[in-house]
Amino acid sequence: MIDPPVTRCKVSKIPKEIKVGAHVYKIRLVAGLEEEGVKANGMLDSDACEILLLRSLTHTKMQEILLHETLHAIFYAIPNKSNILEEEEFVTHASPHLLQVLQENPKLVEYLSTKSSFL
Ligand SMILES: [Zn+2]
Repeated sequence: MIDPPVTRCKVSKIPKEIKVGAHVYKIRLVAGLEEEGVKANGMLDSDACEILLLRSLTHTKMQEILLHETLHAIFYAIPNKSNILEEEEFVTHASPHLLQVLQENPKLVEYLSTKSSFL
């Protein structure tokens, strides 16, 4: 007897890593996150090249926080920046990096483009 085919939902997967400029950032899901005593949903460790995300976030919040931390990684990729960039200056410098990140990380684009956590 042949079993009927099982219908499976494909889960929209968070990419394991993303490439920003010269660096590959590992993405890790963690149970709890604190930055200087304050609870956080996500964190970028630029020295360790890691993006930490709170495991319990909803799909859309996870997407938002991953994009947020990706933008921090782009910010770190801009050389010789002062701590506070003018808006136009940041957008001008960030645009080519964001383009590179989107072009070289199809799994990130797929994940961020998915409205439901199931495909
Ligand atoms: Zn931030």
